[in-house]
Amino acid sequence: MRTPLIAGNWKMNGSAALVEEFGHAFAEARLPASLDVAVLPPFPYLDAARRAFEGTPLRLGAQTLNPLHSGAHTGEVSGRMLREFGVEYALAGHSERRQLYREGDEAVLDRLLAALNVGITPILCVGETLEERDAGQTMDVVLRQVGYVMARLEPDQRSRVVIAYEPVWAIGTGRTATPQQAQEVMAGIRQYQAGFDRELAAGLRLLYGGSMNASNAAELLAQPDIDGGLVGGASLKVDDFLAICQSAG
Ligand code: 13P
Repeated sequence: MRTPLIAGNWKMNGSAALVEEFGHAFAEARLPASLDVAVLPPFPYLDAARRAFEGTPLRLGAQTLNPLHSGAHTGEVSGRMLREFGVEYALAGHSERRQLYREGDEAVLDRLLAALNVGITPILCVGETLEERDAGQTMDVVLRQVGYVMARLEPDQRSRVVIAYEPVWAIGTGRTATPQQAQEVMAGIRQYQAGFDRELAAGLRLLYGGSMNASNAAELLAQPDIDGGLVGGASLKVDDFLAICQSAG
């Protein structure tokens, strides 16, 4: 019932050549019949990616966006601009944005609303730090991050949100959450949503992120509450990313 989604977050990596490589590889790739796949390259590659991904299953995503449509905001990019390049997904609340660029819950909400307002599917990223996990605060932290945003949306907006659980300690560290650890938190997110709206919770797409790779993806994706992956490092190698997509069937 929930279509799996695999999204490759290139972060500040990649090249025009990598965009071409992905276009060629996915034009030929055999993928599970029911699967959504997106690549989120840095902004300068969006136009080339749109062309290279035409006729392939690859959809385009953005790593962030400014909440405003336009204006005197040097260096920023708006949702409206992203839409012009065919962007269908955008991250909000990635832990790197929360930590390095000081984006708090309110900033995350603004970005998520901006995406919804221009017809882009937001991927709300949540996750605890190692300190918070060790202090037994994982569920509190994650549900606060989810709750802050979801409580402020209209029901029809809520149903368009994808949530990515990315434990901060698993991002870029090679230390993946075990399938059981990920499943536990993600089941908790779904249960929390079910407390407000059972139907919405049943349809909510939940992605796992944090050192997902070609070897561990199948086991993670087999968990009942894991509907896909938000992949960082392994999305920069076309064979690895393809293998992850293939294991989502
Ligand atoms: P890694 O897969 O490199 O751990 O990154 C995960 C991530 O942050 C995706 O958004």
